[in-house]
Amino acid sequence: MQRVKPVDGLTKPKHRPERTCFLCWATNNAPSMLRLAVDEDGELWPDLLHKAPGRGSYFCMQSLCFSKLNDRSLGRLKRSFPSLNIQYALFIERLEKALIVQLTRHLSRLLPSAALGRDAVMHRMWHHAPLILIVSDDAGEAIKRQVHDAASKRRNDGDAVDILVDFSTDLLAKASKREKISVVAVNNCNDAIRLQQFSTWLTQVKDAG
Ligand SMILES: [Zn+2]
Repeated sequence: MQRVKPVDGLTKPKHRPERTCFLCWATNNAPSMLRLAVDEDGELWPDLLHKAPGRGSYFCMQSLCFSKLNDRSLGRLKRSFPSLNIQYALFIERLEKALIVQLTRHLSRLLPSAALGRDAVMHRMWHHAPLILIVSDDAGEAIKRQVHDAASKRRNDGDAVDILVDFSTDLLAKASKREKISVVAVNNCNDAIRLQQFSTWLTQVKDAG
């Protein structure tokens, strides 16, 4: 049987590169993992966008593996980076800062098309497009309950909805340039997926600190 030869980059299926966690050796697709970059001075940096130059290593960010991260386990990276300056506490500090910067950036990009505030969010729930709901950490119990109830109704109707709870009030205020905002709905897109990932990571980092 004759087969049509695929033209590179056109008909080939999208290749999702797999990476191995330096600590637990689990493999996963690269975008779901945290890239670790080591600079010329042997400093370890979180490379959230996978764009830092030079060589890097990968970390899975699964909570069990994350809980095992410390000066000793980071020492394993020395095999690949002999000049590495191991400072777990400093690394976690850098990770937290980088996550806040990226969360603010992603939020700012998403907010112009987002539904802001309870009324707008409840209205957006009637549309069928997949949604991500962001609930601020100081939203009142009544709002939280209302949003969760509406979200489960949507799910029962077969419409996708994900909820990020306890999202930093400060971040929401900064990104929206509004003093106080308790709930936001954004359409599910690449930026929103990143937002969700980075927000989960930030919670982990804060719990570790
Ligand atoms: Zn791991």
